[in-house]
Amino acid sequence: MKQVTVLSGKGGTGKTSLTAALAQLFNRKHPVVVADCDVGSGNLPLLLKPYGKTCMELLSSSVAKKVTSCSRCGECAEVCRFSAINSRGEVDEIRCEGCGSCVYVCPEDALRLKGVTSGKIFQSQTLIGDLFHTKLQPGEEATGRFVAKIKDSLQKFSGSVGYAIIDGPPGIGCPVVAAARNSDLILVVTEPTLSAFADLKRLLELTEQLDVAAVICLNKLDLNPKIAAKIRSFCDRKGILLACELPYDKRVVSALRAGKTIVENGPEELVKKLKELQEYVEEQI
Ligand code: SF4
Ligand code: SF4
Repeated sequence: MKQVTVLSGKGGTGKTSLTAALAQLFNRKHPVVVADCDVGSGNLPLLLKPYGKTCMELLSSSVAKKVTSCSRCGECAEVCRFSAINSRGEVDEIRCEGCGSCVYVCPEDALRLKGVTSGKIFQSQTLIGDLFHTKLQPGEEATGRFVAKIKDSLQKFSGSVGYAIIDGPPGIGCPVVAAARNSDLILVVTEPTLSAFADLKRLLELTEQLDVAAVICLNKLDLNPKIAAKIRSFCDRKGILLACELPYDKRVVSALRAGKTIVENGPEELVKKLKELQEYVEEQI
């Protein structure tokens, strides 16, 4: 299965709406599956309107637990970087990250790591193919491990579908690394703002380290023509493919507000550019 992962670093660049549009355009030519790896705050289901939800996997993590009384030496509290355990060995499960340091240092073997359910992965049908998405328990945060698990489920339960379009998490942290790993192509969606440009540079460093090819879509082009020009010349200098430039268009916002994708309800000229982008992405992978 060929995997195209859409990343943006900064939120609000249009990553999810472009992912949905790209998935629909791929589906006009090939069977696809789609994954929402923006764990905990993904909006892809709002656009693709999944139905027939099946729970595929449980997302699990660990927390420390005190299993016997102890001498209260306080070593566990000293080693914990998250202030999640006190000097009597009592654990605050909300703060605990399950790193296991306290279990390791405890001289009386009074602590254990126990598994907890953090959320669920669902496989749902949509009009364009199956969508893998998640629901986290309240208080849980996205982790690279959760993202890796969604991608595993995608491989395991998608049969012989040829293409997976993945909506990656925002930022450039561990969940992004997990989403980018093993992708055949990364599509970085950026916009002409200083923060998006900074994130673009960091994402490109990451894709280079992971040895995954990246192409760029410069969205909302007319927000700041000067920064747009800087992004173009940066791509030129680095030999990175600027695959698509899209203008800011209020009709896209109206389409999204109505729960429609750009392909379903967006301006014709934008859809034409996105078709070219889909062809380009397919050619590159
Ligand atoms: S390190 Fe072990 S013995 Fe010491 S306070 Fe913590 S749980 Fe108790
Ligand atoms: S497992 Fe790690 S985070 Fe949790 S209480 Fe122990 S040291 Fe702190």
